[in-house]
Amino acid sequence: MFIARPVLYAASRMNRVALITGASRGIGRGISLELAAEGLDLVVNYAGNETAAAETARRCTERAAAVGHTIRVEVCQADVGQAADRNRLIRFTRESLGRLDLLVNNAGITSIGRADLLDATEENWDALMAINLKGPFFLSQLAAQLMIEQVKADEECHPKIINISSVSAHAVSTNRGDYCVAKAGLGMVTRLFAARLAEHGINVYEVCPGVITSDMTAPVKEKYDQLIADGLTLIRRWGEPADVGRAVAALARDSFPFTTGEVFNVDGGFHVRTL
Ligand code: NAP
Repeated sequence: MFIARPVLYAASRMNRVALITGASRGIGRGISLELAAEGLDLVVNYAGNETAAAETARRCTERAAAVGHTIRVEVCQADVGQAADRNRLIRFTRESLGRLDLLVNNAGITSIGRADLLDATEENWDALMAINLKGPFFLSQLAAQLMIEQVKADEECHPKIINISSVSAHAVSTNRGDYCVAKAGLGMVTRLFAARLAEHGINVYEVCPGVITSDMTAPVKEKYDQLIADGLTLIRRWGEPADVGRAVAALARDSFPFTTGEVFNVDGGFHVRTL
């Protein structure tokens, strides 16, 4: 159980701090790089790929320096599906960087085995839900406790939570039912926390990526190459992790102070129905 203690540092004396889950590869790395360019200190979380996480950290430090920022980047292994790990991750953030201004719930896995709806197993459902839905919910809860304490001590700070959802929240894939349900649920997590945290000045957003180049989509590359060529998206190209990163960086910039509980599509126009 995370126990609240006094905030260590005020925002005026240090960089803002972002915690990005699943930041060792793919979209999480893309988000980390763009936040580094904004001058935020970072906690790069990963599950098992320590080498990739260290590479993200190295690139972020370089990227920040290239635009004149000096940032601190810390790396922390934690499985967001495990309560003890989530507690340790928030404690690590607080103890290593002293505050938390932005939580990006990005870590996620695809449907294990991509089984047809009629063959999907409870075991795989439970494993996916723990990481993709339970993890963000309870990590947001822990982060919110720290952020509320921080806002009380420093009215100038405006912490935020951003959930990385998916077009699968609204587009059906019958061989990834658990993934679709988890992402649809994450939309409600966004609105729930937006409603609960507004009185504390904490805005909560959902960023909804479309088809993005990463290890997750590598096994279905040819399928999506064809679908995109055939007009799946209005903008006929794959999305890149930097596309999602730039959207998150824009939200982190305090540009939308009167907006919360909102969905930002980063999907090349996939959600637009056409005739
Ligand atoms: P990815 O390339 O497979 O990377 C997954 C990341 O999540 C890695 O950093 C991995 O860490 C981490 N991770 C996995 N399980 C974890 C756990 N239990 N605890 C902590 N970290 C964990 O995936 P991606 O394509 O970048 O996807 C990132 C997010 O975007 C996911 O939520 C995904 O659902 C969403 N999304 C992706 C796409 C797409 O087209 N790629 C589209 C829409 C939404 P390790 O390196 O240590 O394994």
